Amino acid sequence: MSTQFDGTVFVLGGPILDSDKRAFVDEHMVVIEEGRFVAIEPASQLPSDAANVIDVAGAHIMPGLIDGHTHLMSRSGVEADAKLITTSVIDGVIMAKRQIESGVTSLRDPGCKHRGTHQLRDEIASGRIVGPRAYTAGPNIVGSGAPVDWRNHFVDGPDDVRKAVREEIKSGANMIKLVLSHTTADSDWTTCLRYLNDEEIAVAVAEAHLLDTRVGCHCEGIPAARAAVNAGIDVIDHGLTLDDALVRQMADQGTFYVPTLWAFSTNTHLNIGKTISEERAPIYDRNIARIHRESAQRAMAAGVKIFAGTDPVHWIPARDAMVCEIEALVDAGMAPIDALLAATEVSADAIGDPSIGSIRRGKRADLAVFDGDPLTDLRALARPRLVMKDGEILVDLRHDQAAADALWADMATGTPASDRQPELWGQRK
Ligand SMILES: [Zn+2]
Repeated sequence: MSTQFDGTVFVLGGPILDSDKRAFVDEHMVVIEEGRFVAIEPASQLPSDAANVIDVAGAHIMPGLIDGHTHLMSRSGVEADAKLITTSVIDGVIMAKRQIESGVTSLRDPGCKHRGTHQLRDEIASGRIVGPRAYTAGPNIVGSGAPVDWRNHFVDGPDDVRKAVREEIKSGANMIKLVLSHTTADSDWTTCLRYLNDEEIAVAVAEAHLLDTRVGCHCEGIPAARAAVNAGIDVIDHGLTLDDALVRQMADQGTFYVPTLWAFSTNTHLNIGKTISEERAPIYDRNIARIHRESAQRAMAAGVKIFAGTDPVHWIPARDAMVCEIEALVDAGMAPIDALLAATEVSADAIGDPSIGSIRRGKRADLAVFDGDPLTDLRALARPRLVMKDGEILVDLRHDQAAADALWADMATGTPASDRQPELWGQRK
């Protein structure tokens, strides 16, 4: 269902996340006009003749969540084109709807096996498909011969890199995504394979920036992350290994970091993605998951701008994937209020769109209203009552508890796709 309004809209009845105050404020209301926020005002100022009043009594009102690392269409493997296109379109439509039902109103999609993800983004924007506002990258750019066949844009040398960046942006990409390093559970982190050299990384970043486009990178080992940060990259995605000098440099330069902790956790790989075996789990835990978590903690301590992303690349994600990532950030030491901002305002900053991410005058009226107080119970974020995008209501469970219960119970962990990605996961087993 969807509801659009004429005239001023007032949303009230619950505490509102005021990102400036870094707190929920009581007895206020959100004022919306023409799909944009006007203000957070005292509820006592509600006009007696207000026509459009949305009362969410008992719930907490937040800006819409922003998933900072997800893939609308990349669940499928590298099978033949017809199957790849069909499965990825169906996955994309399901994913987009499920994200909205999770309170996610915008997302960053860093890397797809084909450029169709830009079209899905545009279909969502046109209203033909229900889904979050998407910011998309096309195929990853990676050095020729890299043993990660994600249908990348393969390159050799600075000229090739420059051409690839130009082609992807001309083809509709909102951002450029590099794949810089990848490893296995038995890796020696100091010699983790690298797929682009310093010069190639620097050219990619410089060329994208010339075209006013941000660059992120799949990064696991330290040398690749250091080269990327030296080149002035905008986002480190995953960053499994970051040392003290690097997180200091990231904090100084303002480099964003989306660790995707939940996606790389041992439990997720073992029980949800089913991408590692019981026997390999302790090795994965020791060599990857623990080191990853320590890197995130180092980055938190250094003041790096960390944002929340789910990276459910191996399955149609559980509806509570964002909650799981926010819980993982808090579990690693982030304060709950910072984790809520990491899933809203900081994600928006990393994407670079100043029109989203918080309830402030002039921003897009994206709201996610949850049953309960997320600061004392993060699981409240798995209980959306109402979701609004651009001032339009896309989910409204205020008056239908049975429907709410049914949606909230839908915590299915999704369909593992590891059997469809042997080329990707064989190495980690
Ligand atoms: Zn990813």
